[in-house]
Amino acid sequence: MANHKDEIKHPFNLTHQASEATRMLRSITDDFPDNPEAMNYFYDLYKKVYCEGVSLHENKKIVGTMCVQVPEELIYASGAVPVRLCNGFYTDDHNGADFMPAKSCSLVKATLGMLDSKSTLPFINRLDDIVLPATCDQKRKAGSMIADMGYSVYDMEVPPVKESEEARIYWRRSIRKFAGELKQITGKKLSKSSLKEAMAKISRAQKAYRKLYELRKQKNSVILGKDVFMVTNAYFFDEIESWTEAVNRLNVELEKRVEEKYSAAQRRAPRLLFTGSPAIFPNLKIPMLIEESGGVIVGDETCSSNRMLYDMVSSDEWHLNAMVDGIADNYLKPCTCPIFTKNDDRKRKLLHMAKEFAAEGVVYQSFSGCQVYSMEQASITKALNDEDIPVLFIESDYSPDDMGQLSTRIEAFIESLKAKRRRNRK
Ligand code: SF4
Ligand code: SF4
Repeated sequence: MANHKDEIKHPFNLTHQASEATRMLRSITDDFPDNPEAMNYFYDLYKKVYCEGVSLHENKKIVGTMCVQVPEELIYASGAVPVRLCNGFYTDDHNGADFMPAKSCSLVKATLGMLDSKSTLPFINRLDDIVLPATCDQKRKAGSMIADMGYSVYDMEVPPVKESEEARIYWRRSIRKFAGELKQITGKKLSKSSLKEAMAKISRAQKAYRKLYELRKQKNSVILGKDVFMVTNAYFFDEIESWTEAVNRLNVELEKRVEEKYSAAQRRAPRLLFTGSPAIFPNLKIPMLIEESGGVIVGDETCSSNRMLYDMVSSDEWHLNAMVDGIADNYLKPCTCPIFTKNDDRKRKLLHMAKEFAAEGVVYQSFSGCQVYSMEQASITKALNDEDIPVLFIESDYSPDDMGQLSTRIEAFIESLKAKRRRNRK
């Protein structure tokens, strides 16, 4: 386990990371009127963790995860806590440039930058293991660099195809092997009851998320997308029971908003879906620009939100091996990340969501240097355009330099959706 604690020269609240988090939190809370009261739980949580460097999960083993492909049920059942390390800090992206070519994915660069940083978050300094699924090339190659920093890294094998029986067998074996790795880290053997309990814990969190998902279908949007990203990003690191209770409280408040016919967005704000490279705090640049420009994000297809929480693990068999296999299947099949060879599922999902959420357009973010999202955009755009759904494709990174240009493009897209609506009304 790496430990940079001794090297920290000044309190966390004076670090570049804390200033960046403070600036973004201020925008998220102050630039929008009438944020739901229940969002204060999340705003305060970010403040504590990212601005003050408060440590969470005291006295627990912590397993860092580098993708949604890591089955968290197994980590909880082994007595440890998962913390997702996918990082959204521009400051860390900058640090990460020492390890990767300049035109690399900001997410991976920022994660490396964070892990190498002398002022990194306290609970990051307590990582007992980092699980790195071999997904895209950049994540795959990051493992040995992280290991060189002194962390214990476990490379989890992921098949590149998800439809075949061979892939299913390969993946199930990989997950069983991972369960063995966890036993070595925590010293606790997986049991039927601990796994059942862990599945129930995650399922309660997913039920709360699904309720929030349903509430976003309302004609009057009861919550802005920037707040939903704050909620789902908090799942990366929060204590899961506290997170679930906070989402349930938020849902109760949003139900009241439905009764009162309250709209969190401007009336007639174009309804948008967000897809592509994940929005991760504090890099909520694109979601914020969309909602500052008069659009509203009603749904998303990203691994920092919907892809992480929507698909629930179920099991009809309560034998330990069958449960582990069931968990494995549920992580592979529904995953719509473009790292897999074919991805018709992603098209189907987006078309279905566009209908479900009455979305008028889609904003597709691809981080500069992310080949898979960029390569998949043409076919996704075609599938959506064929159904008369316009798509705005944005290639960007964590740098604030392109904000002006992006704002102009996003405003023009939103105006074009309004004009389309007017034409259709005639
Ligand atoms: S984009 Fe794909 S590979 Fe990267 S973290 Fe998300 S799900 Fe994993
Ligand atoms: S955005 Fe692309 S390059 Fe970055 S982690 Fe996801 S799949 Fe990999």
